[in-house]
Amino acid sequence: MRLILLGPPGAGKGTQAARVCDAHGLVHLSTGDLLRAAVGAGTDLGKEAKAFMDAGNLVPDTLVLALVRERLEQPDAAAGFLLDGFPRNVSQAEALAADLGDRGVEKVIHMKLEDEEIVQRLLARGREDDTEAVIRNRLEVYSNETAPLIAHFDGQGLLVTIDAQGSMDEVFDRIAGVLSDSNAGASA
Ligand code: ADP
Repeated sequence: MRLILLGPPGAGKGTQAARVCDAHGLVHLSTGDLLRAAVGAGTDLGKEAKAFMDAGNLVPDTLVLALVRERLEQPDAAAGFLLDGFPRNVSQAEALAADLGDRGVEKVIHMKLEDEEIVQRLLARGREDDTEAVIRNRLEVYSNETAPLIAHFDGQGLLVTIDAQGSMDEVFDRIAGVLSDSNAGASA
């Protein structure tokens, strides 16, 4: 399976992505995790990315695409992958589609969550870039740059929206339902 998990910061993408990947033997590709690893390792790319991340802005596409391409080229990704936090704007989505060609993404799972709940969750999480001002900026970046992908993927017939409110297990069950529906469809 080739999947995208789309949703605002705090929707629980990372947690659900890990569980879905375990259950289905997929490579979990989180651009946020890859970027934080690059920052931690002090690579040139990490040094360039850090200021954007600290401010809650998108890291430039060229840097993010380099990380994504490097990971997707590894042999294990041929068996299937789940993209978490990528693409985050229409130009990243177009670059991805061009890279994948006829082995394109099969489904985009959109995790929908209200702004008020997002802010509460992120403040409780307390990561380094989870201060209130940065959270507010990340939400604005999401609505301006990433939310247009909802219509973009819907237009391609790939989008499924699920409610990201509720416990981790409840949300996982909703995603599992979406994936088993699509498997049934594919084998019919
Ligand atoms: P969250 O979605 O919870 O805010 P992520 O771990 O997905 O956290 O991303 C953290 C930061 O990493 C983002 O605020 C952004 O600066 C950067 N980032 C992650 N993925 C991308 C991407 N696809 N394009 C540009 N920047 C990204």
